Amino acid sequence: MGNITFTMIKPEAVEAGYTGAILSRIESEGFRIVAMKKVHLTPERAGNFYAIHKERPFYNELVEYMSGGPIIAAILEKDNAVADFRLLIGATNPAEAEEGTIRAEFAESLSKNAVHGSDSDENAIIEADFHFSHAERF
Ligand code: GDP
Repeated sequence: MGNITFTMIKPEAVEAGYTGAILSRIESEGFRIVAMKKVHLTPERAGNFYAIHKERPFYNELVEYMSGGPIIAAILEKDNAVADFRLLIGATNPAEAEEGTIRAEFAESLSKNAVHGSDSDENAIIEADFHFSHAERF
């Protein structure tokens, strides 16, 4: 346990052509790509993924945004993957993200913040299972 996390490169970052640069950064920081795909979530799938935020005022906006274009979904492996990946991506609001973090470099705004990273080992497993079967992991 503790060795996988789940990430998404969000629609605006894919659209902007940052996929390669972000994946390069992720690999160079020592994360191994276990599974990866490009997928366009339906509003229903995006809503289910973010069900934990259902009561938040920005939920509808978040669902619309995350289903507004294709994303890259991936499972990443590394010791201490969840915490190390949260450090690599930086604060949710890119204005508060430390220099050198992925969000500081690539995010547009608090809502359009380039990447997702799981916030616990438990959620990493739930999120990985949401997007990938075990036959898709290598
Ligand atoms: P994360 O774990 O750093 O992604 O942050 P959260 O779990 O708190 O929020 C999930 C996602 O919802 C964020 O990555 C943002 O894309 C979006 N989000 C968070 N706060 C806001 C907000 O105040 N307004 C809007 N529109 N989106 C937000």
